[in-house]
Amino acid sequence: MFNDELSEIFSEMADIEEIEGKRWESLAYRKVSGNIAALGEDIREIYRRNELRKIEGVGDAIAKKISQYINEGRITAYDEMKKKYPINFRDLRKIQGLGPKKIAVLFTELGVTNISQLSDAINSHKIADLPGFGSKSEEKLKKSLETFQQVGSNRILLAKGLREIDYIREKLLASGLFEKVEAAGSSRRMRETVGDIDLLAITGNVESATDYFLSLDRIEGAVSRGESKVTVNLKIGITCDLRFIEPDSFGAALQYFTGSKDHNVKLRDLAISKGMKLNEYGLFAADQKIAGAFENQIYEKLGLMYIPPELREDRGEIDAALSGKIPRLIEYNEVKGDLHMHTFDSDGSASLEEMAGAAKASGLEYIAVTNHSKSLMIANGLNEERFNTFNKEVERISEKLDFSILKGVELEILKDGSLDLPSTSLKRMDFVLGAMHQFVSQDREENTNRLLNAIRSGLVSSIAHPTGRLIGSRPPYQLDMDRIMEACASEGVFLEINGSPERSDLPSDLARRAAGFGVKFTLGSDAHNMNDLSNIRIATAVARRGWLTKDDVVNAMNLQDIRKALRT
Ligand SMILES: [Zn+2]
Ligand SMILES: [Zn+2]
Repeated sequence: MFNDELSEIFSEMADIEEIEGKRWESLAYRKVSGNIAALGEDIREIYRRNELRKIEGVGDAIAKKISQYINEGRITAYDEMKKKYPINFRDLRKIQGLGPKKIAVLFTELGVTNISQLSDAINSHKIADLPGFGSKSEEKLKKSLETFQQVGSNRILLAKGLREIDYIREKLLASGLFEKVEAAGSSRRMRETVGDIDLLAITGNVESATDYFLSLDRIEGAVSRGESKVTVNLKIGITCDLRFIEPDSFGAALQYFTGSKDHNVKLRDLAISKGMKLNEYGLFAADQKIAGAFENQIYEKLGLMYIPPELREDRGEIDAALSGKIPRLIEYNEVKGDLHMHTFDSDGSASLEEMAGAAKASGLEYIAVTNHSKSLMIANGLNEERFNTFNKEVERISEKLDFSILKGVELEILKDGSLDLPSTSLKRMDFVLGAMHQFVSQDREENTNRLLNAIRSGLVSSIAHPTGRLIGSRPPYQLDMDRIMEACASEGVFLEINGSPERSDLPSDLARRAAGFGVKFTLGSDAHNMNDLSNIRIATAVARRGWLTKDDVVNAMNLQDIRKALRT
């Protein structure tokens, strides 16, 4: 949390220096911002050990700024900058198509400092005439803004919610005041975004347990405090309910508060049709409680297979459970490799050795390193020669760490569907992840053909983040997904489920649809630093919400099998 705040400040300083035309300073701040966000520990601990300078990109001047922030809660240089540019960069940056330069023009020409002023400017058509904009970009901004507003500023991405839950839960359990703490709600269903956090707990001492909960540093303030429920605002901007539950109702409460609403309505109706009653306290038959302590017994006594939380969206899961057809979903620990990540050789912030070391330490059996190819210049993409050199490094590090690393590339699929590297170069790769990042058209046919060309090239293993959507900032590309799925199935090309939280792409509903065509999937964290390797959990969650089994997921295979699968 502290790291995030500090990282955001350096990110804004980078934006402002960019506006001022100070490219070098901007890059330096940008780098430090990323590195602080990716730290595995609270930067204040590093400061206490007097080791700030060990963070990459931190020199004397920046170390001083960090120290000042830790000691005084402010940075003088930042305050000065904000006097000149009192802009809410954090929000405006989320609008697709708005970089620092454009934000600066909006500010100097129209005085826009936040989202609502931007919205006013768009609605009164003041944007089109600005230097560097035009009516097309006004139209684009309008769309981006709509997407931004749909997610709503009061929901957060799943990964962030899970981090918060893990932290709070661990603290509560370590206090010795709680016998049990479980998260319910949409985060247990692993929805892409989380509106609030629901925690259920068993305690022998509500009074002390509540006091302890309220003392946690993540909490901004209490909203209400009752005997069975405490509601607080969290510093990350959403609320959290902590409910105290009796042990013999815990399973029923967990079922009830996990939802979804639609799932629960169907389940209650089913209970009624069997002459039973289901509520948050238990399942009752003739006023006799027949299940309550354990969630799986609720489903069992209703004559259903157990339904994993990720499936509880009223998309046919109850019928499937009635007829014994709930698939055995891929388990979080069944993913043996991570097939999408970057090192600082393209746009990552860690070395190959660091990334591979961290992946190995996390228990994976292998990874594919997939740096960008040359046409993605903004990400320092590699040309054929640089890949040759890099792939030798892959062999060296693989041997050094005694860890399998597949030679990969996140390959630009160019505007006409041709590939960014020659086939000789691609044939030396173990894993080619085709991706469309640039010059994406508004024309559905054009985009679809572009991907189809790549799928039929015989050189691409999988298609990265196929829809291109960014949750809260960019709608999906215009694509005929059915034709793409069909082609992938017949050509043996995989579709990626990208675990980067704002991507979560393919989305789960499309993954389920693609599986129906016979498509198989590769899961990737798309990590650009060591911390984000944990996003393979997000990719797996999407796969589970898409009803996928181990057999649907390529990287549930062991190394030998995946090498075979990739060769054909
Ligand atoms: Zn990408
Ligand atoms: Zn990537």
